[in-house]
Amino acid sequence: MSAISYLQYGGKLLAFLPLSESGTMLKLNDPSLLKTKNFIDGQWVPGSAGTIDVTNPANGEVVATTANGDAADAARAVEAAARAFKHWSRIPAKQRAVLLRNWFNLLLEHADDLGAIMTAEQGKPLAESIGEIGYGAGFIEYFAEESKRVMGDTIPTIANDRRLQTYKQPVGVVGCITPWNFPNAMIARKAGPALASGCTIVIKPATETPLSALCMCELADRAGIPKGVINVVVGDNSQEIGKVLTQHKKISKFTFTGSTAVGKILMKQCADGVKKISLELGGNAPFIVFDDADIDAAIADCMATKFRNCGQTCVCTNRIYVQSGIADEFTSKLKTAIEALKVGDGFADDVTIGPLVNMTAVGEMKALMKDAKSKGAEILVGGKTHELGHCFFEPTLVTGLTPDMRMASEEIFGPIAAMQVFETEDEAIERANDTEFGLAAYFATRDIGRVMRVAERLEYGIVCSNSGVFSTEVAPFGGWKQSGLGSEGGKEGIAEFFETKFHSMGGIES
Ligand code: ADP
Repeated sequence: MSAISYLQYGGKLLAFLPLSESGTMLKLNDPSLLKTKNFIDGQWVPGSAGTIDVTNPANGEVVATTANGDAADAARAVEAAARAFKHWSRIPAKQRAVLLRNWFNLLLEHADDLGAIMTAEQGKPLAESIGEIGYGAGFIEYFAEESKRVMGDTIPTIANDRRLQTYKQPVGVVGCITPWNFPNAMIARKAGPALASGCTIVIKPATETPLSALCMCELADRAGIPKGVINVVVGDNSQEIGKVLTQHKKISKFTFTGSTAVGKILMKQCADGVKKISLELGGNAPFIVFDDADIDAAIADCMATKFRNCGQTCVCTNRIYVQSGIADEFTSKLKTAIEALKVGDGFADDVTIGPLVNMTAVGEMKALMKDAKSKGAEILVGGKTHELGHCFFEPTLVTGLTPDMRMASEEIFGPIAAMQVFETEDEAIERANDTEFGLAAYFATRDIGRVMRVAERLEYGIVCSNSGVFSTEVAPFGGWKQSGLGSEGGKEGIAEFFETKFHSMGGIES
C-alpha cells in the first residue's frame, strides 16, 4: 500500500490518501469542491450519456468519475442561459461587478484546493496549478471592474433636430469550448468578460479536465451568481456538444480556445447562423537570440517559455533562432539548464516539469523525434519517453534543424527545444515570420534600436522582448493569421461581448 503523502503549500498542509488499489482520492480542505455532475440552471445534474472517468496523467489512476453530457444536455443548458440572460443582462453593471468580486475572492480563498484538483487531472506541478488559479481569478477581478467603464458615444449631430448616440449592449448567450492545458484560466478569460458584460454562458471544458471547471461553478454559485448565468456540460461528446454551442438559435456568440484545425471546423459551423466568434488557436512561437543579448537572461527566459506546462501552451517557444556568434555558448548553457529540470509527479516536491496530458501526446513527441532524427538532427539531451513511464517524456534539446523537419514548421506542444542558427537580423525576422501562425514571438537583444525594429516587423499578435513571460489580464492576448480572431484580456477582451447599437433620435427641436 502506498504511503500517505503530504505537501506543504502556502502554510497549509495538503494530504493525499490512497483510496484503493486502482485509485487515488484527493484530500481537499473543502471536499465539497470536487463536483462530478453537469452544472445546468444552477443544479447539479447527471449526464444523459452516462459517466466517464477522469484520470491522472502522472500515474493513470482514476481521480473521479463524472457525468458524460450530450447534445440534449447542452441544449438544456443553452435554454437555461437564455432564460437567465433576460434578468442578468438588465441588472446594473455595478451589481454584477459585486457578484463577480465575490467569485474572485472565493477562487483565491480556495486556491490550494483548486490547484490540487488541477494537478490531479492535468498533471502540471502544484505550484504552477496554484499560480494558474491566481492568474485566472485576475480575469474575473479585472472584468468586474472594467464592466463599469464600458461607454457608448454621444456623436456630434448632423442636423439640428437629431441627436446621435451609441449604446453597448451584451450580445446574448455565449457558447464556449476550452482546452485542457489551462483548465481554469481559459474559462476565466471567457467567463469573466462574458458575465461582466451581462451575457450568460454555456461551457464545454476539455474532456481531460472537467473537474477544474466544475469547482469554479460551485464557487460561482456560492458567490451568489444567479442560476443559469453560468452552465457547464462535461464529458467526451465534444463534437455533438460543439454543434449545439455553435448552431443553436439561442446562441449569439461562440468563443473557443484550442487547435487551429478544430477552430476551423467550429468557425464553419458558426457560419450558417452568422454567430459572432472569437478564436484563440495554435501558435508557432519563435525565440530569437541576437549576438548582443544578455545570454544568461535569455536562457532563463527561453526555459520559462519553452518548458512551462511541459511545453503544452500555445505561446510556448517552438523555434529557437540563435545568432551564429553566440550559438556555441547559448547551446551549451541551454543544455545545462535543460538537464537541471526535475521531472516528476506534479504533487512531488521540487518538480518543475510534469507529465504530458495523455498517451496521444507522448506518441506525437516520439513521432516528431523520429522524423527529426531521420533527417539528420542532433539530439543533445533527452529525446525519448522518460523512465517514470505513463505520460512522462524527457526534456529534450535538438539542434541542426532543417526546414524539411516537422518540428521546424509544426507546433510541438511538448518538452522539445528545437534550435537553429541564423546570421543577420533580416534573416531572423524573415524566418520567424515564415509561418501561417501569428500568436506570440520572443526575442532577446540589448540594442534599443533593434528592440523597436524587430518588435514592429514581427507578424504576431504578441511580441515579448527580453522576457519569457507576458500573460496578464490587463493586456490583450490574441493571434494574427491562423492563430485566431479577436483578443482576450484588456479592454479589447470585454469589447468582444458587446454589440454596438446606434440610436438616431429625431424630432428634437433645436
Ligand atoms: P488540443 O489538441 O489542445 O486538445 P483541440 O482543438 O483538439 O486541442 O481541443 C480543444 C477543445 O476542443 C477540447 O475541449 C476538445 O474536447 C474540443 N474539441 C475537439 N474537437 C472538437 C469538435 N470537433 N467539436 C467541438 N469541440 C471539439
